[in-house]
Amino acid sequence: MTDYDVLIAGAGLSGSATAVALSRLGLRVALIDANIQPDSDSHEPLARKGFENRVFAIRPAIKSFLTDERLWNNIAADRTQCVTRMHIDGDDRKRLTLGAHDAGILELATIVESDNLRRSICARLDDSVVRLQSEIHTIEQDPGFVTVVTSDGQISCKLLVAADGANSLVRRQCGISVSERNYKYTGIVANFTVERSHRDAAYQWMGAEGVIAYLPLPGNLVSIVWSACDEFAQQLDEDVLPKELAKRYDPLGIVDLVSGIGRFPLRRVLPQTLARGRVVLVGDAAHQFLPLAGQGLNIGLADTAKLTELIKEHGLEDPGALSVVNRYRRARKEEVESFTYFTESMHDLAVSRSSFCRSLHDFGFGAVGRVGALRRFLIQKAVG
Ligand SMILES: Cc1cc2nc3c(=O)[nH]c(=O)nc-3n(C[C@H](O)[C@H](O)[C@H](O)COP(=O)(O)OP(=O)(O)OC[C@H]3O[C@@H](n4cnc5c(N)ncnc54)[C@H](O)[C@@H]3O)c2cc1C
Repeated sequence: MTDYDVLIAGAGLSGSATAVALSRLGLRVALIDANIQPDSDSHEPLARKGFENRVFAIRPAIKSFLTDERLWNNIAADRTQCVTRMHIDGDDRKRLTLGAHDAGILELATIVESDNLRRSICARLDDSVVRLQSEIHTIEQDPGFVTVVTSDGQISCKLLVAADGANSLVRRQCGISVSERNYKYTGIVANFTVERSHRDAAYQWMGAEGVIAYLPLPGNLVSIVWSACDEFAQQLDEDVLPKELAKRYDPLGIVDLVSGIGRFPLRRVLPQTLARGRVVLVGDAAHQFLPLAGQGLNIGLADTAKLTELIKEHGLEDPGALSVVNRYRRARKEEVESFTYFTESMHDLAVSRSSFCRSLHDFGFGAVGRVGALRRFLIQKAVG
């Protein structure tokens, strides 16, 4: 008899959501992380008045999954914002607009603060999920179980879920190699008040100096995400950032910076496989890509949704059985790989200074703008 049916390494958003979804199937689940959040804070309302600078655009299919699993319950509606249109602007003043109505849906995404989502998910981590504050050292796989050696002793499980982020130790321990690219770009995030109403629209500019996105927040607020090359990103402090934004791309008329500035190094990490033996990868442990379309967490939670569905259908007795793990690997491969190459190509085309690449970029823009079916296809792919 193993200690747990499923052990999840990493209590970030992907790992915590996976723990809740799998424990709801009646499995014995444990969540292990060296920096596990205290139990109590998830039940307290957000004390802040201002909006956090770390926000996610959650696509409708993923919001439905979170709602079904009751992971969206604790999020107050007045701290979220729907996105019904997305304007994509190029250097040459061409604009492509993707509207929810083009695909016959109500919204493209819902914006939610990272900490708010974390609290809502953690509030569902009740006594059915055992939380272990401990560090993983090594992993050994046997045909019927996995043994994990931690700083506090040994744990055995039928399935080990690696949700331990882009530098996943579990992935390394399983001998899964990755293809990696350091873009030497930094994701800058910050919130601003704006002059003109965003009218539920997001804006994105794809220029030779990186990509700037404006995500709408309630009232006259927006959250910006600027993927800028490292050297330039260093200079973007409280004084310089508003001026540089206003100079480059300012569709709504920014007024004041109303948050701190967050910085995230941008990398691509693509593992050679998403599962090995009785170990599966989810979230950033399974894929890390550029935040150009704001899909990293969405695709991480899509991993969780698929794993939950497969275990429910084929793995209630043994969630680490070959029939579950192989199906999971095959089911997630296409979306992960295609999204990695899509974001990479968009980045390379956007920042390329070669005239051929820029023409190709402009041609793609024009074609999608003119062909309704292509627009609908893109929207359906984006909303999940
Ligand atoms: C600028 C920017 C903007 C973004 N915007 C969006 C967006 O709009 N929409 C979207 O969907 N995504 C977005 N993303 C992507 C998103 O932030 C990530 O995909 C998501 O946060 C990853 O969550 P995770 O739980 O998989 O990993 P992490 O948040 O990295 O969590 C990993 C956890 O594992 C733990 N851990 C590490 N090592 C070990 C170990 N050895 N043992 C146990 N535990 C361990 C860590 O302590 C941590 O708690 C954006 C990313 C960036 C950089």
